[in-house]
Amino acid sequence: MNRQALDELKQQIPLLDYLQAHDWQPARPLSRGRLMGLCPLHQDHAPSFLVDPRKSLFFCYGCGRGGDLIRFAELYHQVKFPQALALLRQWLGLPPLLWQTTEFYRMQLHCHGEAIAYLQQRGIYSSELIEHMRIGYAPGGCLRGHLMPLGFPLQVLRQAGLVTAAGHDTYVHRVAFPLEENLYGRSLSVSAPAHRFLPGSKGGLYLWDQVRHYPEVILVEGLFDYAALWQAGFHNVTCSMGTNLNARQLRQLCDGSRTIYLAFDADPNGSGQKAAQSLAYRLTEHGVIARTVSLPEGHDPNSFFAKGGDASRFQSLLEEAQ
Ligand SMILES: [Zn+2]
Repeated sequence: MNRQALDELKQQIPLLDYLQAHDWQPARPLSRGRLMGLCPLHQDHAPSFLVDPRKSLFFCYGCGRGGDLIRFAELYHQVKFPQALALLRQWLGLPPLLWQTTEFYRMQLHCHGEAIAYLQQRGIYSSELIEHMRIGYAPGGCLRGHLMPLGFPLQVLRQAGLVTAAGHDTYVHRVAFPLEENLYGRSLSVSAPAHRFLPGSKGGLYLWDQVRHYPEVILVEGLFDYAALWQAGFHNVTCSMGTNLNARQLRQLCDGSRTIYLAFDADPNGSGQKAAQSLAYRLTEHGVIARTVSLPEGHDPNSFFAKGGDASRFQSLLEEAQ
């Protein structure tokens, strides 16, 4: 991201808006429009956090930290610069309702041992990854009660598909992954449908802005596959959420010169392989180099790593891809 893009992002998100969206309230006004309040970065008991809304800068007299919007996002979310940018862009793009839902589910994740146990069973244990993907947990029976006091009417929650016609939370016992304009929920229970999205488009490729500059990109069909690869150090991975790519996802893959490695599931009935072949053919027609990765039969990238595969073995599969 260049200087100009950074400035644009900062212009699009006034620091004060971002602070207030994270429940910060000024305790008292100072001269020249500046505000003073409790510091969201440390345990503050007397207001020591100074905000200058006109300059979009902050400084804390308690913990001594200060800076601009991006610096605040780094400190507040405890992430590095590129992740802070990604979070800010996501925040900018997500409708407020989806943002609040995601934040709520993220808090729930750490209160529910069954969700953590499920992630571990799927081979996901890195807290850096959980933060990167902003993985949450929908226990059910509590989202509506959280969102309505924030000012979202029941009708709006129903329209968004977060609450059923009968008024119950739609996502129950699901691990939740925020997408750019949707929310994917994976059921922990075998009696419920495994995959669930909100009504509307699944959107473009997963976190495409973070991978589009790589000369080689790995495309997987599921978010757990994405998680396994990212955790193993393959950060040039993206996900189409299913083997049927929508027009936007296809355009994204073709928007520059790169090699795409298709690492779809090696289903025993061959459906994943067939989907990869036909996609490879379409990409080639658009002048993109496409290679199909052959996983051991019955495996997807997630199970490959969960069952003991490692980065060097996967790297060999990439090199053998045709
Ligand atoms: Zn502070």
